[in-house]
Amino acid sequence: MSANDWHRREFLQSILSLPLAASVLTAQPSGVRLESFDYSGVRLLPGRLRDQYRATRDFYAALPEDDLVHGFRVEAGLPAPGKPLDGWCHANSDVVFGQWLSGMARMAKATGDTVLRDKAARLMAAWARCFDKTGSLGGHYAFDKFFCGALDLHLYTANPEALPLLRRIAAAASKSLPRARRVASPADQQAAADGNSEWYTLSENLYRAYLATGEATFKDFGDVWRYEAYWSRFLETSTPPVLRVHAYSHVNSFNGLPMAYAVTGDERYLRMARNACDFVRNSQLFATGGFGPGERLAGYDGDLGRSLELHADTAEIPCGSWAGFKLSRYMLNCTGEARYGDWIERLVYNGIGAALPMTGNGETFYYGDYHTGSGTKYYLWDHWPCCSGTYIQAVADYVNLVYFRDSSGIYVNLFVPSEVTWQQAGQSVKLTQETKYPENEETHLRLETGGPVTASIRFRVPEWANAASVQVNGAPVALEIRPSTWATLARTWQSGDRIDIRVPMHLRAEAIDKQHPDRVAILYGPVVLVEDLRFNLGLQMPPGHHKPEDLAARLRPEDGHPLSFQVVDPPDQAIHSGRFFPYYEAVANLPYRMYHDFTRSELA
Ligand SMILES: [Zn+2]
Repeated sequence: MSANDWHRREFLQSILSLPLAASVLTAQPSGVRLESFDYSGVRLLPGRLRDQYRATRDFYAALPEDDLVHGFRVEAGLPAPGKPLDGWCHANSDVVFGQWLSGMARMAKATGDTVLRDKAARLMAAWARCFDKTGSLGGHYAFDKFFCGALDLHLYTANPEALPLLRRIAAAASKSLPRARRVASPADQQAAADGNSEWYTLSENLYRAYLATGEATFKDFGDVWRYEAYWSRFLETSTPPVLRVHAYSHVNSFNGLPMAYAVTGDERYLRMARNACDFVRNSQLFATGGFGPGERLAGYDGDLGRSLELHADTAEIPCGSWAGFKLSRYMLNCTGEARYGDWIERLVYNGIGAALPMTGNGETFYYGDYHTGSGTKYYLWDHWPCCSGTYIQAVADYVNLVYFRDSSGIYVNLFVPSEVTWQQAGQSVKLTQETKYPENEETHLRLETGGPVTASIRFRVPEWANAASVQVNGAPVALEIRPSTWATLARTWQSGDRIDIRVPMHLRAEAIDKQHPDRVAILYGPVVLVEDLRFNLGLQMPPGHHKPEDLAARLRPEDGHPLSFQVVDPPDQAIHSGRFFPYYEAVANLPYRMYHDFTRSELA
């Protein structure tokens, strides 16, 4: 192996944390600016994210294995103990099964959880036995998930059966999957005609497999499913005419773009990826980071704002968060630009981070409800939907979104209680992050090293921040602070050095779109607040008067409840406004309002 090959292998390892020994590279991956830790070297410490992580782990770890594969075994004519699932998985669990494997493998890698690792291995083996009898892959949609699950068992648990299985199912799929590959349309939003549903998401995982193994068959098969006819709309612009098609799967298809760039090095894919991300960010996102009212992409003509009057299925949360996490992470990898971390932060607190927990027999939080009248958190009417697959994947990804690195040092993308260990110039460095963010504006970083180490420590200045102060070992440091960029501290560090970061938060209103300037969500720092609508009609303010100082005059912080506010109503207002509190704290069935129409100055 030449030095150049070695360099390329390091490159690949950095984007996917690949087992070096497994790689036989045939591709030159395109530039990686920031490396992910890829479920290694990062630990969550007590806090909101770890609570959700653990609850999610425990839910999936407790699911009876025989039930999860019951339908596959029946179809294969094998003994099928246990009982069938219901809902979306009433026949078998092919719409989510691979995602369960994927989430378990990623969690097992991150935490050394052998229970979850072994469970995933047994489930994959049980499914593979059925597949080898039936040859059934369930179409593009299910194949993509099986493939991702087996790939993640290969990548993250070093399961020796996974790669042979990947080869078998890719070979079967290349014979059996229809190749009509039509562009979706408003009449056929997932291009589902003739059994092609969501074919356009397949290239991402096939390219991941190629990058992991160097096996050209995976690349060739990935090439088949590039969504060029849709992606090319974003080649020169981030505002192409909007196709009113299925939101989640089209945003998820954009994950094929950075992967196509990694595989081919063709800058066109990076350009399309940038424009596609800007399209989503600028025209599709609610304040929570969710998107897709009624599961469709929104037009530029005030569609998003109007949707708030029509929909309780405002945004598909676990699936949308998973797509957003991946896309943001890939863009951080290949551009190094901090702004791609902003969407992650929204979703961590207001998307998947505000979802109801998985519970019962597959009761799943699917839709965020942002209706302007009143909304509630509710479980989907059907059990085991798509979002029961992406729920564990999205939560598993928390540990992979907090830190990034390059040869110069470490990047703190999220303020989350956690610790990270990495090698800097041959030295092991550990950084511990203590914070109660977002309930508190302060974050404290502490370094442990074996000796002096020269490194840049950077943190992302959130998109909403207009200031930040930093102290190193108690001494103030002047830093350039610009929203959506990295603030950089470059120096030689000693063990025990401490960095104190304070990012002042404030109330602010975000309009849903420019056609509805007075239809706003109220946020404090990164957190979307909702108003408790029990026994009241909701806060009213005059149109155009919802600047931060206007909000601060009406919303007073509640003693003892961080991020909660009591409303100061006019003395003659007969029905009082409700308290405001974080959307992530809303429990099931409690009526709240997230988007407010500030069109009247008072209520009778
Ligand atoms: Zn879903």
